[in-house]
Amino acid sequence: MSTSTRPALVLGGQFAAELSELAIPWQAEAAPDPRILVLNEPLATELGLDPEWLRGAEGVGLLTGRSVPVDATPVAQAYAGHQFGAYSPRLGDGRALLLGEVLDPAGRRRDLHLKGSGRTPFARAGDGLAAVGPMLREHVVSEAMHALGIPTTRSLAVVATGRRVQRERTLPGAVLARVAGSHLRVGTFQFARATGDVALLQRLADHAIDRHHPEAAGTDDRYAALLRAVVADQASLVARWMLVGFVHGVMNTDNTTISGETIDYGPCAFLDRYDPATVYSSIDTAGRYAYGNQPAVARWNLARLAEAMLPLLHEEQDRAVELAVEAVDAFVPAYGASWTSGMRARLGLPEQVASGDVGSLAEELLGLLQEHRVDHTAFFRSLGAVARGDTGAARRAGADEAAFDAWFGRWLPLRPDAASMDLVNPVHIPRNHLVEEALDAAVEGDLTLVHRLLEAVTDPYVERPHLERYAAPAPSDLGPYRTFCGT
Ligand code: AMP
Ligand code: MG
Repeated sequence: MSTSTRPALVLGGQFAAELSELAIPWQAEAAPDPRILVLNEPLATELGLDPEWLRGAEGVGLLTGRSVPVDATPVAQAYAGHQFGAYSPRLGDGRALLLGEVLDPAGRRRDLHLKGSGRTPFARAGDGLAAVGPMLREHVVSEAMHALGIPTTRSLAVVATGRRVQRERTLPGAVLARVAGSHLRVGTFQFARATGDVALLQRLADHAIDRHHPEAAGTDDRYAALLRAVVADQASLVARWMLVGFVHGVMNTDNTTISGETIDYGPCAFLDRYDPATVYSSIDTAGRYAYGNQPAVARWNLARLAEAMLPLLHEEQDRAVELAVEAVDAFVPAYGASWTSGMRARLGLPEQVASGDVGSLAEELLGLLQEHRVDHTAFFRSLGAVARGDTGAARRAGADEAAFDAWFGRWLPLRPDAASMDLVNPVHIPRNHLVEEALDAAVEGDLTLVHRLLEAVTDPYVERPHLERYAAPAPSDLGPYRTFCGT
């Protein structure tokens, strides 16, 4: 007799019920030989799911979408989007499904979603599938982002399907089970707006308010309040990306969330050396989504959201446009304030130091890092030691020029707090060469390095002797790093 009892998993269908025009009921494709590669036990527990049950046949059925609770309504979600600036009226979940919403024990409603679960009516020319490497990459990087305190979709599990997937070569297939505040995107609003059905657009906005900004519901300009809140959340999100050196790589409007979470870990990567022009994605030939462009792109994407929401903002069009412009313009000061406060923490500076001074000191430092080709993460981590009087680690990170000493000479008299800096300047990010190495081994069936990397990046502020290699900058002979969208 099995000791594993089925927990009372309830998968709500709020999105499917309230927004049926944006939801096509659909089924996952069967996985011929499903096998869990990684299971996020802390996240499972947070959701009220028993990890042992998830590892059993019924759990794997849930994680691959083949055995969902009887009253669940898995759907493929419709959305549009600007991809590299060009508008596509119909994108949608081509290889993904929203299984439903889980109410966790803390009372938070979260989407349970699958990626790589087979073709849907939105698949166009795609095969609906995903490969082991890219899904593990999403698992590792999204969990690293979460550990860094950056809002993000989470990965509950990656399950190998036993099916081969044809890319440049044949690869083992996988399904990712993803958890998110929601999967509402700027592109969801663009799609709803393009239908011409303002009542649908309004229901979508009400749904977004209910899920993410219930405080807006009580105001007399609730839709403008929603827009302002999304702008504020995205400004803070992108500031956090910039502070840790994260390059998203494919900031299309369909990959920009209403929840303010990072979504879609395709060609993303972290900076090694600090350089605002850094582009990793092989398809981003014009550098539209370069590291240094990310705040401007986020603002552009939010302008597309504001445009889509115009009919809800005010009945008089001129006033609606004014409200939209005001809301989007608030991005710049909100981004600046988040970034400066993050830099204040990274530099360990007390509140008495004026924000303007924090900003100019930080800008000057970033200029030096760029000029001297210094590793971003290792350098910021070394600043705690510099504050304690030891410049050794900063020298090893590449700050051996007289110019840095002049900068230290301006910063140290401000009495930076070394202990607090060590809590915000990570030792561990998912460094590109380590991610590649771990995924290459995983594709060959060896998950040891994936687990080791996860051990490092899910506890990013703690130095551990056996993980020293995971804290070191990339070898200098590595050459430029490239990521690929064909995931
Ligand atoms: P992404 O670049 O991952 O944000 O995806 C953009 C669009 O392409 C979305 O509509 C995806 O569902 C779709 N898509 C990406 N890969 C596939 C695939 N292998 N099969 C079907 N649709 C896909
Ligand atoms: Mg996407």
